[in-house]
Amino acid sequence: MAVTPELQHTVSKTASLSGTSLHTGEKVTLKLHPAPADHGIKFRRKDLQDEPTIDAKIENLKTVERATTIGEGAVRVHTVEHALAALWAMGVDNAIVEMDANEPPIGDGSAQAYVDLIKRAGVTAQEEPRKFFDVRDTMHVESKTGALLILLPDDKFRISCTQAGPNNRFAQFLSVEVTPAVFEREIAPARTFVFYEDVKPLMDKNLIRGGSLENAIVVRGEAVLSKEPLRFPDEFVRHKILDIIGDLALIGRRIRGHVVAVKPGHASNADLARAITREQTRRSAVAAPRTIPTGDGGLDTDQVMQILPHRFPFLMVDRILSFETETKCVGVKTVTINEPFFQGHFPGHPVMPGVMQVEAMAQVASILLFKLAKTTSRIGYFMSADEVKFRKPVLPGDTIFIHAELTKSRGERLAKAKCHCVVNDAIVSEAELMFTFLDK
Ligand SMILES: [Zn+2]
Repeated sequence: MAVTPELQHTVSKTASLSGTSLHTGEKVTLKLHPAPADHGIKFRRKDLQDEPTIDAKIENLKTVERATTIGEGAVRVHTVEHALAALWAMGVDNAIVEMDANEPPIGDGSAQAYVDLIKRAGVTAQEEPRKFFDVRDTMHVESKTGALLILLPDDKFRISCTQAGPNNRFAQFLSVEVTPAVFEREIAPARTFVFYEDVKPLMDKNLIRGGSLENAIVVRGEAVLSKEPLRFPDEFVRHKILDIIGDLALIGRRIRGHVVAVKPGHASNADLARAITREQTRRSAVAAPRTIPTGDGGLDTDQVMQILPHRFPFLMVDRILSFETETKCVGVKTVTINEPFFQGHFPGHPVMPGVMQVEAMAQVASILLFKLAKTTSRIGYFMSADEVKFRKPVLPGDTIFIHAELTKSRGERLAKAKCHCVVNDAIVSEAELMFTFLDK
């Protein structure tokens, strides 16, 4: 069941799973159905009139008490995290999770049943590219209960977690790269665990009717009570990692980054998911394609190509947005994963080469020069680049605004331009360029 990391995936066919729900103790049947690209994961309540669906999105998160509950309107689905963890980690981006109750089957308290379900259904690649959240700057969330989650840049999705019970009992640490194989082997079999003092009040109030030693490990003092022995000496921290994956799945994107978690819980996991979504919204807002003027003031792609001799894959300007003056203009280049340079720079961690940004600046500056000279019968040769600085990586999906200003021209043969590139309102690179002109 190979998964192509760059493409979206769904399940190959419908598969189902029956069991007991944790909180109500009712019987529940869950069916996993294929869904089209960009659909995401949606839960469907087959037992309700009109069979409403709920998007597995952080905006729909309702409560994080002991388990993760999502809802829309009055409709709720409880304890979604183990199913979501398995879908995300096994590579399923799009699926409908149909249930005839308000909670998926708890199984043995791990995600094992969901891994088996996904393997029965199969996983199929779709044509659309996956959406990623690339961590650019370190982010963190902290809670009053002592939970701390830090997200660091990384070209893989990694989780390093420290778990500690009351009075630091059962302190455990584990660091993994989350891949389908690692998840299936190291994380999915780890069961839910509870400390007796925490669940006693819930048991007294009859709030966990489906709970038993069949689907959770109970820790009482130093004693570990469970139906079958521990599956790993550090099973608890593994389950904490499982819950982190399930809760972060609510961002609806794949993460390239390293989560460092200390004593995490559903509440802090949800806080990190919200912080990621806020950052993603901010990025999308500033990178949204602007209405690009054509005709008055700017140049469209055809006009750019009439001026510049460059062609794909070396044409680094899509359009000129505007000419502020005769010597100053702004060009735009949308960087997509299809740029040939991403194949080799670098596989698995695409970053736009700095020299290509300098080339983009040179092309925008030459447009100014050609316009000023009112001729394209000469070729501008790039002579030098000074004060070159690369401040931030440029990634697939970014829109670069290329600012160029002619600062000096000596006779007809030499010219200097001051340039900088902007992505998401931040300068990503800058340079001072010098050109000479030769007749064709
Ligand atoms: Zn859990």
